[in-house]
Amino acid sequence: MVLTRKQVGNDWDSWTWQQQNAVRDVNELREHFANVPAQFFDKINANSSRLKFQITPYMLEKIPATISQEDLEKNPWFLQFFPLGEVYTQGADAYNGTDNWENGPEFPTSNLHHKYTNRALVRFRNCLSYCNFCFEALGTLEKNPSPFKIFKWDDWQRSLEYLAQRPEIEEVILSGGEPLLLSDSKLEQILSDIDGIKKKDGTSKIRFKRIHTRVMTHNPYRITDELVRLVSQYRINEMALHIAHPSEVTQEVVESIGKIRDGAGRYSPMIVAHTPLLRGINDRAEILWELFGKLYENNVKPYYLLHTMPHTPFANQQRVSVRDGVRLMKQLKRHKSNIAIPEYVIVHYDGKQTVPLELAGTPEFQYTQDSGGNPLVKFRNWREKWVEYPDVRDSLS
Ligand code: SF4
Repeated sequence: MVLTRKQVGNDWDSWTWQQQNAVRDVNELREHFANVPAQFFDKINANSSRLKFQITPYMLEKIPATISQEDLEKNPWFLQFFPLGEVYTQGADAYNGTDNWENGPEFPTSNLHHKYTNRALVRFRNCLSYCNFCFEALGTLEKNPSPFKIFKWDDWQRSLEYLAQRPEIEEVILSGGEPLLLSDSKLEQILSDIDGIKKKDGTSKIRFKRIHTRVMTHNPYRITDELVRLVSQYRINEMALHIAHPSEVTQEVVESIGKIRDGAGRYSPMIVAHTPLLRGINDRAEILWELFGKLYENNVKPYYLLHTMPHTPFANQQRVSVRDGVRLMKQLKRHKSNIAIPEYVIVHYDGKQTVPLELAGTPEFQYTQDSGGNPLVKFRNWREKWVEYPDVRDSLS
C-alpha cells in the first residue's frame, strides 16, 4: 500500500524514509491508481525484469490517485520515470544495451571522467530517477549494469591520484547517476579527499567544485541541514538542478532551494538548472517558458536546454529533432527575459555543442542525412573535429 503524508507523520520529511519507501512494484501502482485499468501497467511490468523504476511517496502524492488512464498517459512525471513501451533497439539512434555513447579512454578509472580540459566528473552510477531518456542507462536503468558502470570505492584512491597528477585539472563535478544518494558522511569523505589534493604552496589544487543532481524532483527532503553545512564548508561553487517540467518546481523544491541559500549564506553556490528537451513533455514554448520563468522567479538560472541524446532505451519516444528545438528557442529568445533563457546544446559523446539558432544551419553546423536517409547533424566541435550526431525527423513546424 502506498502511504500518504497523513499516515506517515514526521517521517514524511525524511529523505531516507522517502527513499526506503519508494514504490518499485508494479502491483502497488495498479492498486494505487484505482481508476486506471490494471492491464495498463503490463507495459511497465514487461520491462521491469530488465529496467529499474521507482517513485517516491512524495512524487506519487503529486499525481492524483484518482487520475484516469488518459491523463496518466500525459502526466509529465509518469512519462519521464516509467519504462513504458518497448525498449528501442532498431534505428540509427537506437539503444544497443552495451554502449552508452561514452568514451572509454576518457575514464582513467571506473568513477572518473576527464572530458574537458580543466575539469573532471566523478560519476556515481546509482540514481533515484531512472529517467527513460537516461544517457547513463547502462549504469542506472539496467538491473544488471556493466561492471564498468559501478562506482568502486577501491578505485577512488586511483581517481584522487589522477586528479593530483594532471596539472590542468582545476575543477571537479560530482555528477550522475546521483551524487546526493550518498550519505552525508560518504559525501564529506569525497569532498574532503578532493580538498586534500594540495599544490606545493599548500593550497587546494581543485579550485572549483560542483554538484549535479536530480534529487529535487524526487526527494527535495535530501537538502538537510547537514548537507547544507557540507555545501558551505566545502565551498561548492555550483549546484545544477536537473528539472524538465514546471510541475517539478513544487513548494517543497522552492523551500529546499531557499534552505541552501539561507544555510550556506556567504558560501552559497550558484544554483542553475539543466533541462532535457522531451517530446510530449516539454516540447512547447509555453511549457518551457513556464519552467524557465518559475526557476528565474526563484533565482535559479536556466543554464542548459539539452537535446535528448540518441542511444537511450526510449529515444524513439522522447526525442524531438535538433531543428525543432531551434524553433522552440526562437520563440523564446529575446521574446522572453533573456537571462531566463538557457543555452541550447547537443550532448555529444565527444563534448557538448551549442546549437546555432539558425534553421538552415551554419557552415560549421549542418543538417544532413546518413547513407540510410536518416536525419544526421554534422558539426565542428570544441576540439576542432568534425563529428556526427544522429537526429530524428522534424515534428514541429
Ligand atoms: S537523473 Fe540523470 S543519471 Fe539519473 S536516471 Fe535521470 S538522466 Fe540518468
